Amino acid sequence: MKKGKKLYEGKAKIIYATEDKNLAIQYFKDDATAFNNQKKSTIEGKGVLNNRISEHILSNLSQIGIKNHLIKRLNMREQVIKLVEIIPIEFIVRNVATGSLTKRLGIEDGTIFKEPLIEYCLKDDALGDPLVSEEHIFAFEWANKKEIEKVKKTILRINDFMIGMFRGIGIKLIDFKLEFGRLKVNGKNEIILADEISPDTCRLWDSLTDKKLDKDRFRKDLGDLIPAYTEVAKRLGILHEQSNVTAVNVTKLSSVKKKKQMKISAIITLKKDVLDPQGKVIHQTLDGMGFKDIDEVRQGKYFEIDVKESDPKKAKEIVENMCKKLLANLVIENYKIIETQ
Ligand code: C5P
Repeated sequence: MKKGKKLYEGKAKIIYATEDKNLAIQYFKDDATAFNNQKKSTIEGKGVLNNRISEHILSNLSQIGIKNHLIKRLNMREQVIKLVEIIPIEFIVRNVATGSLTKRLGIEDGTIFKEPLIEYCLKDDALGDPLVSEEHIFAFEWANKKEIEKVKKTILRINDFMIGMFRGIGIKLIDFKLEFGRLKVNGKNEIILADEISPDTCRLWDSLTDKKLDKDRFRKDLGDLIPAYTEVAKRLGILHEQSNVTAVNVTKLSSVKKKKQMKISAIITLKKDVLDPQGKVIHQTLDGMGFKDIDEVRQGKYFEIDVKESDPKKAKEIVENMCKKLLANLVIENYKIIETQ
């Protein structure tokens, strides 16, 4: 595909026209900026990692029916995307309080929200991307009510899916930013997910250590940004030479085996009222395979842990603690502890 003229240059990406007026090429730069452009740097390799990670996440979202602009990755730094009219709002989704929210409202850093919190910021560098309300969005016609309702529903599904995806690789999804755009389909505007989802646009903390695996390494001068982004990519299994990282994590849990005294199982399931997009995909697939007598499929996780503790009550308490601290997200999941042996 031939790259045409530059249509737009942002802080971390450039959009180029192509010979197809409906498609564009999105180029990921190595530039990093923070605090409304006051802090700038170039970090070699960042664009390559974000291109791969964003491709992986957006492809997975497509598979659960979340429409987005990604067509395919072209090479190390570029992807072909559908050209959309971007809604001039940054949609910020927060599961845990940190960053600008704690500064703005004095909420204690690390506070876990019962429900995800959605905030809107106007995309305007000159104004410093100010926080705006839904009323502002409607009053100034940045988007209409129907569009915002659709975006909010989609955001909650994306959040559920991404929390699960990252938890499976030992990462907590703290918060992230999304952008949406309008696409003309049969003369009608459709709202689809656009931009990127990467460690540049998400806060990702290691589940066990709270180590920052995202752009806060740049914002807070923590260093080692590339190793952190590489760690995220490896755990997602998209760097082939290291695609066994998930297995390494599992080994960590089961390495307690050597000292075994009691086998305790933990079954983690989504709470009844929480959307389960993966369960829905499995249901649809099973249905397509001819398993027609299914009402609903809810997927969950099963952990079998050998605990060095001979007292069953204490062994269960240890695993319960693991569920509370790492294995389960208590906001959206229930856990059940069983003595297996
Ligand atoms: O800085 P703040 O706490 O508001 O950021 C919330 C989330 O949104 C973070 O994950 C951050 O990386 C992301 N964000 C972004 N682009 C912006 C503002 C915030 O990706 N312009």
